[in-house]
Amino acid sequence: MADESILIMKIGGSCLRNAEDFDKIVQIIKNYHSRYKLVLVVSALSGVTDLLIQTAKRSEKKEDYNDLLNGIKVKHEKIVKEILKDYHIPVIEYLEDNIKEIEKRLEDCVEYGLSCAKLDSITSYGEILSTFILSNYLKNRGINTVYLPANSFLVTDDVYNDALPLFDITKKMVKYKVIPILEKGFIPIITGFIARNKEGHITTLGRGGSDFTATILAHCLKKDDNDVRIILWKDVSGVMTASPKFEPNAKIIDTLTYAEAKELAYFGAKLLHPRCIYAVEDLKIPIEIRNFDKETNEHTLIVDKREEHSIVTGLAQIENVAMITVEGEAMVSIPGTAAKIFDLMGANNINVLMISQASSENNITFLVTLDDGDRAKDLLIQSPLFGKKWFKIKRELNVSLVAVVGENMGGTPGVAGRIFSALGKKKINIRAIAQGSSEINVSFIILRKDLRRTINILAREFDLV
Ligand code: ASP
Ligand code: MG
Repeated sequence: MADESILIMKIGGSCLRNAEDFDKIVQIIKNYHSRYKLVLVVSALSGVTDLLIQTAKRSEKKEDYNDLLNGIKVKHEKIVKEILKDYHIPVIEYLEDNIKEIEKRLEDCVEYGLSCAKLDSITSYGEILSTFILSNYLKNRGINTVYLPANSFLVTDDVYNDALPLFDITKKMVKYKVIPILEKGFIPIITGFIARNKEGHITTLGRGGSDFTATILAHCLKKDDNDVRIILWKDVSGVMTASPKFEPNAKIIDTLTYAEAKELAYFGAKLLHPRCIYAVEDLKIPIEIRNFDKETNEHTLIVDKREEHSIVTGLAQIENVAMITVEGEAMVSIPGTAAKIFDLMGANNINVLMISQASSENNITFLVTLDDGDRAKDLLIQSPLFGKKWFKIKRELNVSLVAVVGENMGGTPGVAGRIFSALGKKKINIRAIAQGSSEINVSFIILRKDLRRTINILAREFDLV
């Protein structure tokens, strides 16, 4: 049923560079509009969120931020004049008013300091500006759009900079704010990334959060009897079998399961927001990743289940990690040692990327980002328990993490054997291994100098090139 089908399209910041891009958005809308009711979710212009964060940080240190703020203004001004020509005046006025608002917030930070809440209120302007601009441009091109800031309906918890949606309230608000626009046959043009908490303060969904805005909207618009789909327009054609940085012959993966997407699309590639899948997987809403820059039908489709498929779907890696090893007789059969290590990391905001413990129990190895490596070691050495002489704490900074991912690995015996014998034959030394009980991911640590070769060997072993 055509008019029951809803398509939510996220327009990434890399799709908003010049007049040609804006014109292409019109073509895309025309392509899909006959088959779907459309909802557009828009990211900030490329680089603007970073610039806003930098201005906020400078203001906190009482450093001059005017060059950056002016840069933000000029970037928007240029695009507005380019795409709206004679009709640019009201949009430029809106831009100037909003730059003044950002300025007020920065002055407040100079005076009273920056907080996570204030940072969200500052970064939110990236999406506010880009979305307003696109909405006005589309109206000018004769497309019926309604500009809708997401903080008018998307309600989250209070975790500033990385908020999670409160689905019950948000769903009610979507019914009230978004559905009437669709029913009138208009296209809501919605700010990605930003939201509000119950108190009404601006929150954001974490970096790359516009993907999440799109999936949250899909969740809220899905009914038993309608068809809802998502297209994320990006500067790549989809998720690849391996990083092209290390494997030039890597291919686009045509179909991924939600579980694989969670492992592959974030880990290493950071192609998707880490939590965006969770809003749609129960409802089985399909997501497509498509390339805005290429006229190609090649893309990645992310779905619940897939037909026949090879055992390994893709490889991912984190090039720069630090490996920490806690070793000691005292750990054997003392319950709670692992918990104490990871509590300490958690309490100090250190994200643990992988954990591996031998069954002899006398050592635990874990991985953190390279930046956290020294701090993780120091925290352990300075802690009352692990600082004692019967523990040895080691850290290695010259390692990388590789993950082999595939839904079909579960239940196929011998995959781990194939991975490690292929690498063993080529004399690649494995430092530690971890496999989740879901069996969809085998992760291991190698020396960074072996990373490229490791990816090349596995890509050939599992037919990924
Ligand atoms: N503008 C935000 C960011 O750069 C959100 C997004 O692009 O999805 O992280
Ligand atoms: Mg972005």
